[in-house]
Amino acid sequence: MGTRKKVHAFVRVKPTDDFAHEMIKYGDDNKSIDIHIKKDLQKGVVNNKQTDWSFKLDGVLHNASQDLVYETVAKDVVAQALDGYNGTIMCYGQTGAGKTYTMTGTTENYKHRGILPRALQQVFRMIEERPTHAITVRVSYLEIYNESLFDLLSTLPCVGPSVTPMTIVENPQGVFIKGLSVHLTSQEEDAFSLLFEGETNRIIASHTMNKNSSRSHCIFTIYVEAHSRTLSDEKYITSKINLVDLAGSERLKKSGSEGRVLKEATYINKSLSFLEQAIIALGDQKRDHIPFRQCKLTHALKDSLGGNCNMVLLTNIYGEASQLEETLSSLRFASRMKLVTTEPAINEKYDAERMVKNLEKELALLKQELAIHDSLANRTLVNYDPMDEIQIAEINSQVRRYLEGTLDEIDIINLRQIQEVFNQFRVVLSQQEQEVELTLRRKYTLIDKNDFAAISAVQKAGLMDVDGHLVGEPDGQGFGLGVTPFSAKPGKKAKSKKMFKEQLSTSARKEGASSPVGGKDLDFSTSKTQLTPSSKEGDVKDMLMRDRETSSIEPLPLDSPKEELRPPRPSTPPPKPVAFEDFKNERGSEINRIFKENKSILNERRKRASETTQRINAIKREMDVTKEALNFQKSLREKQGEYENKGLMIIDEEEFLLILKLKDLKKQYRTEYQDLRDLKAEIQYCQHLVDQCRHRLLMEFDIWYNESFFIPEDIQVSLKPGGSIRPGMVPISRIMSLGEDDQDKFSQLQQTELPEGPDSFSFYNAKVKTEQKHNYLKTMMGFQQAHRK
Ligand code: ADP
Ligand code: MG
Repeated sequence: MGTRKKVHAFVRVKPTDDFAHEMIKYGDDNKSIDIHIKKDLQKGVVNNKQTDWSFKLDGVLHNASQDLVYETVAKDVVAQALDGYNGTIMCYGQTGAGKTYTMTGTTENYKHRGILPRALQQVFRMIEERPTHAITVRVSYLEIYNESLFDLLSTLPCVGPSVTPMTIVENPQGVFIKGLSVHLTSQEEDAFSLLFEGETNRIIASHTMNKNSSRSHCIFTIYVEAHSRTLSDEKYITSKINLVDLAGSERLKKSGSEGRVLKEATYINKSLSFLEQAIIALGDQKRDHIPFRQCKLTHALKDSLGGNCNMVLLTNIYGEASQLEETLSSLRFASRMKLVTTEPAINEKYDAERMVKNLEKELALLKQELAIHDSLANRTLVNYDPMDEIQIAEINSQVRRYLEGTLDEIDIINLRQIQEVFNQFRVVLSQQEQEVELTLRRKYTLIDKNDFAAISAVQKAGLMDVDGHLVGEPDGQGFGLGVTPFSAKPGKKAKSKKMFKEQLSTSARKEGASSPVGGKDLDFSTSKTQLTPSSKEGDVKDMLMRDRETSSIEPLPLDSPKEELRPPRPSTPPPKPVAFEDFKNERGSEINRIFKENKSILNERRKRASETTQRINAIKREMDVTKEALNFQKSLREKQGEYENKGLMIIDEEEFLLILKLKDLKKQYRTEYQDLRDLKAEIQYCQHLVDQCRHRLLMEFDIWYNESFFIPEDIQVSLKPGGSIRPGMVPISRIMSLGEDDQDKFSQLQQTELPEGPDSFSFYNAKVKTEQKHNYLKTMMGFQQAHRK
């Protein structure tokens, strides 16, 4: 494989009693043939003065039996086809020179059978010799006449281009003829029948369609596919052997021809000259484009000419003086062919089905190995199968709890689980990013500059800054619209929205709204630039936003009551600002404390930064003054012409002190500047922390508020109080597994009250679990709906 090889070119001389001994001479090695033309003949035959030619080929076959011809020309090509190499054997020559005799032979006499039947025999014999492989053989027989394709093995009696328009198709696997029948043959006899049928069709077609069979190219193809019987072997090989009986190569005199003959002559001359062009191009290693598509013959043989194939050309010539002109032309063709190099390569493919099966086997084996390994390592049995939704949800919950800090570590079970943990980290991260983005969008939104009504409403309410940006944050999205109470009826939302709109028109009309930042909202559901006011609940966020710059949250009592002590739920929910104060005293106390702490740090840093800036400016001013004084000194010195003593600079004491001072100032400046830079980075970081805390505080409040005043009691039972619940954050384990108390109750129940006794335990257990799962999903869906923007 990979070695370059020349096309093998042979000459077969048709036996004749009238052999031109004086003109045709064979070399002793039977590989060369010399032609000598007598003077008197030269005039009429060739125009140049040359009278002698010598052709060196791979073999000259004269008086050779069909047997010897096969041995010399075809045997190796066929043998290699079974190893995966494509092969092409072509017979070239003038009509009557013996192409068909060589290729097909006589059908009456077994001894005179040609290359075709012998190749089939060899293929089947070799298959018998290779029991290790399952080898299939298919055949097709194509005829190309006047650039039309005919299927010589078609079951239709008369086939023409109008009946089955065949086309030559190229794909990555190679070239094939669409519409050409390919016949599976399991034994020699079947193959022979097909060959004979093809020959018969060829003759019949030549009569019925009035075509001269010597004017057509015939390609008999044997397709081989060999799969190893060893199932672990995933590779298989394919190959094809093309046996080509070309149309007569004689130059037809166009002048004397007309009609059908002229057409045939044109087509044959063209296709054979295209064949030659393609072959010459193939022989030229610098040529990268080979003109295969110029005619049907070269196109159909594209992957069988040169390239990765074994290729043999057999030139049939007459041995008679009268045919010398054509003989010369044929021999020239043969010697040009001999120059072509090919690089035979095995056509190897992968059996996808086998690969899957082998991988499955391997997988099963490895699972067994793992099981053994686990039991040897005394590990509880680990399931290595892909995870289901519930297992993934459990990991998601673990990751969230881990991030919240309520779970110390995530136990490592297997690789698949580790991968899923990382995956869920990513999921949670992207959800949190979305949440932050959403919050930001709620806080700052642009108003469409063309929406004058909205702008004037906002301006009147004092909400617009000079750039036309909305100051602060719109509200109601989080409190009014975003969290629809769990028990809300469908109509409720629409109604409340309408109410907000009415409020907008009143508040917009009112001169100088009471709060500078309150009472605004953007209705995301209708248009991103439309304004709707929120309910008074918006004041909670406004308060927080005011905190952003002024840090005015009042201190909280250290022993703020815990949520367990929460008073019973009131019949009507308190307004949000009031509830928010409550929240800060109970569940939100910790986060509120952190929020305040961070903010005071932030303010302190801001103060320091501003002090540093002032100091830097003072230093800068002093530096400028010092520089000016220095310059003054310098100009004085220059005027006095004190540059003397061979280029040495003489500086007086005053100037020297100024230089020292400037140096010192520069140092101070650099240190302060560095401090300021550090402070700025710290401020940025603190600001980020403060924002995060604020966001968290609001979100926790949101959840707390809904949980306290809107979620039905029965659902609250399953959501154990104390955990922060948000969309997708209910730890599934909390719902999927019974709480400790529940577990006790259940085991008591199991002993005492199970109607069918302890045996029914698993049945009921499953039932309870299913119901729990169902409830969980219901809850989740409720939350998601409520939190969807
Ligand atoms: P082609 O196909 O090149 O037109 P054929 O194969 O039809 O030529 O040969 C023309 C005739 O010559 C046929 O009758 C064939 O049997 C005979 N013939 C050709 N070559 C040989 C050969 N080597 N030995 C015996 N007969 C031959
Ligand atoms: Mg023929």
